[in-house]
Amino acid sequence: MIVVMKRSATAAEVDTVVKQVEVMGYHAHLSQGTERTIIGVVGDNRPVQPHNFEMLSGVEQVVRILQPFKLASRDFHPDNTVINVRGVEVGGPRITVIAGPCSVEGRSQLLETAHAVAEAGADILRGGAFKPRTSPYAFQGMGEDGLELLAEAREETGLPVITEVMSPETVALVGKYTDVFQIGARNSQNFPLLTAVGKTHLPVFLKRSMMGTIQETLMSAEYVLSGGNRQVMICERGIRTFETATRNTLDINAIALMKLWTHLPVFGDTSHGTGKWELVSPTARACIAAGADGLMIEVHPHPELAMSDGAQSLKPEKFAALVHELKQLAPVLGRTM
Ligand code: PEP
Ligand code: MN
Repeated sequence: MIVVMKRSATAAEVDTVVKQVEVMGYHAHLSQGTERTIIGVVGDNRPVQPHNFEMLSGVEQVVRILQPFKLASRDFHPDNTVINVRGVEVGGPRITVIAGPCSVEGRSQLLETAHAVAEAGADILRGGAFKPRTSPYAFQGMGEDGLELLAEAREETGLPVITEVMSPETVALVGKYTDVFQIGARNSQNFPLLTAVGKTHLPVFLKRSMMGTIQETLMSAEYVLSGGNRQVMICERGIRTFETATRNTLDINAIALMKLWTHLPVFGDTSHGTGKWELVSPTARACIAAGADGLMIEVHPHPELAMSDGAQSLKPEKFAALVHELKQLAPVLGRTM
């Protein structure tokens, strides 16, 4: 349930509603929009009746949110959430491009890629140090050494960095180095992990599971938000379907629908979404056209030698060409880059 305050509501009236929420045994989450304040009544609030709040002064309307996600929903927070990642504004008019290798493989590989994507116009550098691999025999990532290299690349290029965290036990370690926690598709419903990053102050980039519905994805975001961390970005990265010609089926519907349902920034990852480098740029353009706030693109200077996901990685010059195209596309869609 949400309590929508009148435009003219005073701070004292807002405070009275918050107290009433707490007296009834719930948590009050405030959303201060440009137009008005909205107070989320968080908890199993089925016993709450609208008149518990309607009778208080300054209250315009009490609305039951029918979707099971509350804090993630646009009803609760009509304006887009804008997240500041070391000076990069994510979720505003400007399109955000996250780029870099699937895995951090070594110093020269990472620094070469970092400089190339920075020069091409990327906003945030990606690179996995802890890799969730299907096979236990495949390269598992460089671990903390990889995190140190990411920090070095940030120092050299000025780009903020994002890397995956796979377990609650490593949240503190990864948080020492990264600017954004990536939650991978395979951990999209790892509830202890979501709870752990929800207690931190770093932004969280949550990927949709390959078999997760849009609603389940937003419920995962709700875990992070309800823990007190309001800085969540959602990423569509392709789902499993009957189609085997591509690695996954990039669900463009999900991007357009999530922009309606949630105020959180929405991304498209067209490397994992397609599995084929030839499809990365066309589908990236489609994501932006569908309303995505940003992209995640895998880039590798020598994809044929990559230790993971080479087939879906762009070479730096192809990535630069994509950014150039997106810069032309952005203004047509009312965006900047
Ligand atoms: C990745 O970003 O390299 C990755 C493992 O992605 P996903 O979790 O979407 O498979
Ligand atoms: Mn990858």
